[in-house]
Amino acid sequence: MVRAVEHIVAWNQRVTAGEPPSTWPADDCASSLPLVALTCIDPRLNVHFPNVLGLREEQFIWLRNAGNIIFGTTSSMTRSIALACAVKGGREIAVIGHTDCGVRKTTMNDLIDRFRELGIARDQLPDDLRSFFGLFASERENVIRGVDFVRRSPLIGAAVPVHGLLVDVASGRLEWVVNGYEGWSGVVPQPLPEPPSAPALPTVPQPAIYQTPDWSGNVLRRPPR
Ligand SMILES: [Zn+2]
Repeated sequence: MVRAVEHIVAWNQRVTAGEPPSTWPADDCASSLPLVALTCIDPRLNVHFPNVLGLREEQFIWLRNAGNIIFGTTSSMTRSIALACAVKGGREIAVIGHTDCGVRKTTMNDLIDRFRELGIARDQLPDDLRSFFGLFASERENVIRGVDFVRRSPLIGAAVPVHGLLVDVASGRLEWVVNGYEGWSGVVPQPLPEPPSAPALPTVPQPAIYQTPDWSGNVLRRPPR
């Protein structure tokens, strides 16, 4: 079993420490990709992804929102992650927070001031700004909470590991927050086996109307009652 994200993080930590890459996770873990990743909208992350993971663009499904926040097990972002797996073939999921996140640094009063500067008065904003915008006090705890929602989502199968990481916005170094392989069975559910075929029935001569159409494409029709 390839533990792709363990391989990626170990690779990232060697490379960001200065070791030249001799292999790339892109080649070593191709069967466990693409990786579905949720990050913040911070533009400082643009240079880092997917490079700091050692992945090619087509191996990386990138979702973003302000603060890489997951609001619930069936929230809009969880729904997108679920479709990234179900429709786009994502094999593993990572919620990737980053150091120095503006959402963590923004207080409710800051937010009220910023909106006022944009001509939006306090009474136009939701009462509970903290919950509405998902303001958080710790990048790590925000990642843990996001992973927990995704892991418990009925839309995400148990076969898909869900990880939490933190990236250093300056160096691109990754750190573990939640290792999604812990407690993960690694067993991908297989389709149920076909039921044993029923014993052959005695053949009964069929009226011509039920017989297979000929190769000229004539359509078999039911007889009128
Ligand atoms: Zn951020």
